[in-house]
Amino acid sequence: MKQLLSGNEAIALGAYHAGVAVATAYPGTPSTEILQSIARLDGVYAEWAINEKVALEIGIGAAYAGVRALVSMKHVGLNVAADPLFAASTTGIVGGLVIVSCDDPGEHSSQGEQDNRHFAKFAKVPMLEPTDSQEAYELMEWAFNISEQFDTPVLVRSTTRISHCKTVVDVNRDRKADLNEPSFTRSPAKFVMVPSNARIRRQAMEERIIKLRSYVDDFPLNEMLLADRKLGVISNGVAYQYALEVFRDASHLKLVTIHPIPEQLIRRFANEVEKLIVVEELDPYIEDEIRRLGIPVMGKEFVPIIGELNPEILENAAIEAGILPTPSDPAPHQTPPSPQLPTRRPQLCAGCPHVGTEFVLRKLGFLTPSSTKGLKKGEFIVTSDIGCYTLGVYPPLSALDTCACMGASIGQALGLEKAGVPNKAVAVLGDSTFMHSGITGLIDIVYSQGNTTVIILDNSTTAMTGQQGQPGTGVSVTGTQAQPVKLEKLAEGIGIKDVNVVDAFNLREIENTLKRSIENDEPSVIISRGVCILSSKTRGTPFVIDEDECIGCFDCLDIGCPAITISDEQACIDPALCVGAACGVCAQVCPQEAIVEGRG
Ligand code: SF4
Ligand code: SF4
Repeated sequence: MKQLLSGNEAIALGAYHAGVAVATAYPGTPSTEILQSIARLDGVYAEWAINEKVALEIGIGAAYAGVRALVSMKHVGLNVAADPLFAASTTGIVGGLVIVSCDDPGEHSSQGEQDNRHFAKFAKVPMLEPTDSQEAYELMEWAFNISEQFDTPVLVRSTTRISHCKTVVDVNRDRKADLNEPSFTRSPAKFVMVPSNARIRRQAMEERIIKLRSYVDDFPLNEMLLADRKLGVISNGVAYQYALEVFRDASHLKLVTIHPIPEQLIRRFANEVEKLIVVEELDPYIEDEIRRLGIPVMGKEFVPIIGELNPEILENAAIEAGILPTPSDPAPHQTPPSPQLPTRRPQLCAGCPHVGTEFVLRKLGFLTPSSTKGLKKGEFIVTSDIGCYTLGVYPPLSALDTCACMGASIGQALGLEKAGVPNKAVAVLGDSTFMHSGITGLIDIVYSQGNTTVIILDNSTTAMTGQQGQPGTGVSVTGTQAQPVKLEKLAEGIGIKDVNVVDAFNLREIENTLKRSIENDEPSVIISRGVCILSSKTRGTPFVIDEDECIGCFDCLDIGCPAITISDEQACIDPALCVGAACGVCAQVCPQEAIVEGRG
């Protein structure tokens, strides 16, 4: 049966048909749809875990019980899950354990770009990478089989284009029928990694890689296409598709086994062609591996090392490097120009509950332009981490000073304080991010007697990745409702005495509470609560600007609401975007009270 599937949907279906019994993930673009797709299928326990580390630990537990487990995450999530990844590599598994890492070349929705192919080598586990949705589907069965045959977790890498592009998939299997019954067999030598046991397992890891090296040489999805022998192109993932399009006459070797690489196959291919090049996104991973074999190869001399590739970038780079003829040569390959799409500045939504808090933060804490050295007395530093609210770094809000990774804002604020910076640091993070990895930072503040103010922007969802549930809402990936974890109780339980919940749309309440908290000598938590407008069912009558009252000061533009624009030199509100009384932030900013609820 043919189906049009994205790479993520194909991974989910492939895993399902391979008999996966437990699937866990933490949402993160471009990986989120894998768990969402699998949660719709019967017979699988699916869970949004609190973070990627816990997701993998649950997967490891399930694999120890002999069932097949799938754990998915975005590339930076694997950094969080690195500890259990290395541990599982050491112990090995029982039931198959497949970890999908979706990388984001070009940082479409990430705070950093990294090439997670290195993780496979680093953790000494096999890695497979599909070049389209069909292969994503096929590879899941292979991945689980390899995992069980070689007693190892298996990494499957995807990238944004593979994960999100839809291609036709021949769904040629049904769900595996002979699933293992979950059971646990006691085996301290395998599962308890005290040094005496870990040293023995360490030996097993090296023996495993040696066996895998010969296994991958005959792996059927690594494919050699021999055509013109003057040029041989080795590529992987989506870069393989680009390479086929740009180097149409050349010979190609598609690599699906990324670690270990099929050494003998590569040697055979290299012997068939006069000149060998590697086309791969991000780091020269395959190129370096081929060089290690002593085979002359070209790659990053002309293929960009940063960002995504596309056929146009690749063709231009190849022409410049003299690998392809220049357009003036008799037979240049013409790539059709990419369509120019209109650009849009990243911004918070109209009616976003983060706007009010970030507006107050900027108003109270930011007096010195960022280009001048040092801060004035009374100003404070706003450390942030990654989420929708990070968009508050852009004008006109310009309310944030840092953003590194999930949960980092609290530790960073404490670090600034303990380093002796005289200005107070205020940490900002989302409710989901707080649960993910902010909570440990808050415990550290209490333990180390810091006096940081932490603002949890509680929009009661994981908004940036598409409204997933989390412990604060208690809503699971399948829609069941558990007891929500109460942020205020949690903060109090940790030992924070100054805990306040404010209405995220009430500027005065936020301002008064923030002023009080930052003057406090002890740590404080402000929970700025307002439901994400995308998940809220509440919409009011759009607000309007009374032209008779408006003096044209444009203060209302300072909140950065996309519903407010200037037309004919007059501030105006787009009724299609404004959510009305569900928000009302602009009305609180206007000095003339010129912004009022419309007539409906
Ligand atoms: S803040 Fe009020 S007075 Fe100023 S431009 Fe906006 S609507 Fe007009
Ligand atoms: S009430 Fe004002 S701030 Fe809120 S969505 Fe409407 S225009 Fe934007």
